Amino acid sequence: MPDGLVSVDDFLARVLADLRPAEPVAVPLLDALGLVCAEDVRAPLSLPRFDNSAMDGYAVRLDDVRAASGDDPVVLPVVGQIGAGQAGPSSIAPGQVAKIMTGAPVPDGADAVVPYEWTDRGTDSVRISQAPSERQHIRPAGGDVTEGDHLISAGTRLGPRHLGLLASIGRAEVSVHPRPRVLILSTGSELRDPGEPLGADSIYDGNSYLLAASARRFGATDVRIGIVPDDEDAFLALLHDRLDEADVVVTSGGVSQGDFDIVKAALRTLGTVWFGGVAMQPGKPQGFGVVGERRVPIFTLPGNPVSSYISFELFVRPALRTLMGLSPAVEPTTTATLDGSVSSLSGKRQFLRGRFARDADGPTVTVRPIGGTGSHLVGDLAASNALIVVPEELTSLEPGAQVQVVLLDRGTHE
Ligand code: AMP
Ligand code: MG
Repeated sequence: MPDGLVSVDDFLARVLADLRPAEPVAVPLLDALGLVCAEDVRAPLSLPRFDNSAMDGYAVRLDDVRAASGDDPVVLPVVGQIGAGQAGPSSIAPGQVAKIMTGAPVPDGADAVVPYEWTDRGTDSVRISQAPSERQHIRPAGGDVTEGDHLISAGTRLGPRHLGLLASIGRAEVSVHPRPRVLILSTGSELRDPGEPLGADSIYDGNSYLLAASARRFGATDVRIGIVPDDEDAFLALLHDRLDEADVVVTSGGVSQGDFDIVKAALRTLGTVWFGGVAMQPGKPQGFGVVGERRVPIFTLPGNPVSSYISFELFVRPALRTLMGLSPAVEPTTTATLDGSVSSLSGKRQFLRGRFARDADGPTVTVRPIGGTGSHLVGDLAASNALIVVPEELTSLEPGAQVQVVLLDRGTHE
């Protein structure tokens, strides 16, 4: 490792060391989509709750219809109609049938359902031309879920099917690890909000959007504060004012060696934030620690947009996942064949922008380098969909090399 630098892996380990999943909260079902369940869910009732019909037809006593055939149909009186959720006869006597619709409770005495297709669909009496087998077309109570069954384990990421099941057993809320609230602030006196006029030496604040969108995409709640000028007191005052709204703070800019790198200067006075260099390119200057009485984790990302974005992907995302009760790693990086040549600094892990493509008719995957190494190149960043990882010990790679690739457009559910 070059002098004084921390490796990417060591820095990530330092970030994750003290993070734990956030305290569970109960939320309405739909708010739990994509979140990790924090309770073991058991069935408070059986599903189906009662024997019910799987077909539209007639509830019958098997003994009455056993002999029915096309040549020799059985004709029986219909004593009533039972629709789903609409009261009807609760029992049938020998020699009687009741019309029954799908999902309606099977009346006492009935032991099969004859579907419409085997009848003349009669109203007062019905002609039945085929005999069902015992309990045919009856969905038995408890045939799906039995009261007391273990249905969902703590640690499960809740998707539509889990939420459907929870609703089906009558749960209106479920306990989950909540979305972390991420407070995002961009530092820099040169920054202006999109839509505002620019001065001769000002630029638009791309980072707070880049980072807020990343936070949101990974399942967190973003609280985008926007721009803070390069003023230590203003920065600390704002942080102090808004810290209540945050489970994680992410800043960009102001952590290098410049005269106006106020984030480092301001936070150093607290003594709870580490600043140093990480052996990576881009993204060398980093800071991580905690602020406030609640010891809210804070990431101070470098200001260059590409550095900021890659740092978020590599360090903030695993932290957010941990707080949400997920494993920090998203998935192992993928291997691809390099379609181009690249060079890299010795001793640093290089993350180059690339375009990843899967061969339509085979398993071949290639990645083509995009643009240069400059960490200000937001156009190239937007055109990329992957990061090409060049390990610390390599300084160049030729076309055809097998390289590790971080895919950037994975959904929030991975
Ligand atoms: P800094 O880390 O504050 O020295 O910033 C490094 C570079 O990134 C400078 O060129 C800044 O103007 C630029 N930069 C810092 N913050 C932002 C931002 N929020 N949006 C776009 N560029 C930024
Ligand atoms: Mg700056």
